[in-house]
Amino acid sequence: MAKASEMNNGGQSGNGEPYFCKECKRNHTKGKIYKDHLKFAWFEIDKKEIEEESESNEKELESEVEEIFESLEEEEDYIIELNEMEEELELELDSDSGSDSNEVIINDANVSVEAVKKLPGVGEATLKKLIKAGFSSLESIAYTPPRIIQNESGLGDKTTAKLIKASMSQLKIGFKSAEDVWEYRKNITRITTGSQELDDLFGGGIETGCVVEFFGEFRTGKTQIAHQLCVNVQLPEEDGGLNGNALYIDTEGTFRPERIIQMSEGLDLDHKKILKNIIFGRAYNSDHQILLVKEATNLIKEKNIKLLIVDSLIGHFRSEYVGRGTLAVRQQTINTHLHDLLRLTDIFPELCIIVTNQVQSKPDVFYGNPTVAAGGNIVAHGSTIRVYLRKGKGEQRVAKMIDAPHLPEGEAVFSITENGITD
Ligand code: ADP
Ligand code: MG
Repeated sequence: MAKASEMNNGGQSGNGEPYFCKECKRNHTKGKIYKDHLKFAWFEIDKKEIEEESESNEKELESEVEEIFESLEEEEDYIIELNEMEEELELELDSDSGSDSNEVIINDANVSVEAVKKLPGVGEATLKKLIKAGFSSLESIAYTPPRIIQNESGLGDKTTAKLIKASMSQLKIGFKSAEDVWEYRKNITRITTGSQELDDLFGGGIETGCVVEFFGEFRTGKTQIAHQLCVNVQLPEEDGGLNGNALYIDTEGTFRPERIIQMSEGLDLDHKKILKNIIFGRAYNSDHQILLVKEATNLIKEKNIKLLIVDSLIGHFRSEYVGRGTLAVRQQTINTHLHDLLRLTDIFPELCIIVTNQVQSKPDVFYGNPTVAAGGNIVAHGSTIRVYLRKGKGEQRVAKMIDAPHLPEGEAVFSITENGITD
């Protein structure tokens, strides 16, 4: 507490000079002690006393603080409980609206949850465990290995096996006629790359329902293609887009909104809207990267994601797993990660996945043919297309189709300009 004398002299008057004291409402002489001002001094004494007292009672206070923390923790538990109850309530409300035939269900995610809920043996508790682990659709259950469902949801092996079997039978997964496969392939849509030649190499643009890998040396245009596709996927179908949004997992820190703005302007698009529809995740290590892909499962339907980018796929794995002894584990982890991605194309056939890979020289020694590695239900309609990029003259780049189940080998020349990818 500042003294009144100090408050009122404004630092102007010297000793012996008069000044008006606002507290006492009369004139004082600077330097003199006034009786009324003792009450201000008293406050200071009081503060000291409190401090002394608090020092002697420190232990008491500490235990008090502990108690407060404990009660806060209890409160936190209570809030978590409340949230869970709220979630449950929401689920119930969803099911209520679902049974009302006049009501239009806007959220697709609820529709798939409803289907899971109707599986035999799925009660509230099982449903909650499945949703919490990210298995909120029949597809995600049918296409995921039982071991993973068990580990992530905490459900028993018998329950898991039953759920997978029921999901598969509802989705009519098993042998099918070539006609059915053709029916599926007819529904495949494509995103334009911005270059007619490059689109032709892919048979008319980059198709949905598969993982496309662009690999090549540094500065060959992998990241630029990824940026361009994030813009182009948002175009209407008649303009070569999918009318959808993009999810970009950046492992190298090379995502540049500035480039998105330039590319949007090159197509006369509102760059603010384009930027808003690109969900961005920076992966700081391989574990984080794996986690982001798992989280993506829940975002795809909710955010109308039609394109998922992982730029780059194995950079982190390469720097984290060094030395000969780690090679096997590294390959296994990459393989599982790639399977996670392939599974996404099975769960969401309308999704296009692009991964990039940096290579020094021969690409083939890097890891085995992922199409071969991808087994089980995944090969049924998931596939991997590999394209090798190299530098041409100036801004030109050459793309070579290396590995595609249904596309002829060939090459395309395209350019990287300020406005993005063109012929
Ligand atoms: P990487 O294959 O390593 O991911 P990038 O996709 O980042 O390579 O490509 C980098 C190349 O893209 C640069 O060397 C340059 O040729 C081209 N590029 C980047 N930004 C622009 C721009 N604003 N205007 C024209 N070309 C650009
Ligand atoms: Mg790059």
